[in-house]
Amino acid sequence: MSGFQSRRRFIAGAVCPRCAEMDKIVVDLDSDERECVACGFSEGRPEINVPAEVKTRVNRASARRVETPAEVVKLLDPGAPAASDSDE
Ligand SMILES: [Zn+2]
Repeated sequence: MSGFQSRRRFIAGAVCPRCAEMDKIVVDLDSDERECVACGFSEGRPEINVPAEVKTRVNRASARRVETPAEVVKLLDPGAPAASDSDE
């Protein structure tokens, strides 16, 4: 185990400022450098005051689609008692 391997992590939803690809930005956890795996864009540690909109832009259009089975389940209750109480 002598790997000189930097720990990288993808930033979910991050858009590359150069090629505008989403989810291609990896951040080096050691140096805080960001890099785009699509176009090779790299950026050092950002300055202190970074506009919030530059950080992460969430695109709702690419939200994961939840597939629901179009299956109609019919529950037939044959012996539904009428709500009539008879005194005894
Ligand atoms: Zn890029």
